[in-house]
Amino acid sequence: MTLPNFAFFKGRIVPYSEAKVGVLTHTFNYGTGIFGGLRGYWNAEEKQLFLFRPHDHYHRFLESAKLMLMELPYSQDDIVQFTLDLLRAENFNTDCYIRPICYFNDEIIGVRLHNLHAELTIVAIPFGSYVENEEGSHVTFSSWKRTDDNMIPARGKIAGSYVNSAFIKTDAQRSGFDEAIVLNQDGHVAEGSAENFFIVRKGIVCTPPITDNILEGITRRTVIMLMHDEMGLEVVERPIDRTEVYLAEEAFFCGTGVQVAAITAVDHRPIGSGKLGPIAKELRRIYFDVVRGRDPKYREFCAPVFQKTESLKR
Ligand code: PMP
Repeated sequence: MTLPNFAFFKGRIVPYSEAKVGVLTHTFNYGTGIFGGLRGYWNAEEKQLFLFRPHDHYHRFLESAKLMLMELPYSQDDIVQFTLDLLRAENFNTDCYIRPICYFNDEIIGVRLHNLHAELTIVAIPFGSYVENEEGSHVTFSSWKRTDDNMIPARGKIAGSYVNSAFIKTDAQRSGFDEAIVLNQDGHVAEGSAENFFIVRKGIVCTPPITDNILEGITRRTVIMLMHDEMGLEVVERPIDRTEVYLAEEAFFCGTGVQVAAITAVDHRPIGSGKLGPIAKELRRIYFDVVRGRDPKYREFCAPVFQKTESLKR
């Protein structure tokens, strides 16, 4: 992976090599940070980089911070602005991934959330696909369970809860699968290690509700809207049983990293035809147009990074 050239760190943009924390940093020891993950999409025709739904991402980011009692001296608009400044500094003309992190920078021993000092940092790197088999992944049900809202809330993008995701992902991949679907404490489907989950049953698109221990995904919200508004599909948020997945006509993951990735087999059982299904196929087409700023109807989701004059020079 190419390292970033710059970082937003302690209130300004600095060379990446200067963005360093000490080993006693609270979040490094206890996983008490929160983070985000955004994508920038390069639009070659317009020579423009579009940041996808930054306000929605930073709204969730600040909600996660609130859960963790983190107070930042910045507004949502400020953080969007810092991100645009950072992307201009990086001067990407390729797709990229943006990682904002809010962490407790106190260098102390003592596990708690109160009376600590939150700090913001943001970095960005060039980024292509997150998964290899976007049109046909083979996944399994994880033997791990999703952390419950009363353990570490999945609704917050909390650093420590990604240990749960790491167990899920590693055990799936070391068993030869691309990814895993994880169940919650009730035995209902929650999500993937870092993506939300959908099935199609009897023509109806179903996805777990936000009360089933899932991250409230921005891509989830986007694709629910696109399937309803653009594809005329009925989309229902309801608990999903494990065996419904085996019987589904289609299944797919969505998320900023994974985008929209079809699941064509689960635990060696083909899903539907066992090939990329018509709904996932069409949704992928629409989604990629939307995120790259090619669909005028959804252009407001795409924040241009470069000014007109700058982009003309590029
Ligand atoms: N669930 C988890 C656990 C995740 O880490 C992610 C990635 N942020 C998602 C779902 C998808 O969320 P989003 O669409 O906002 O990227």
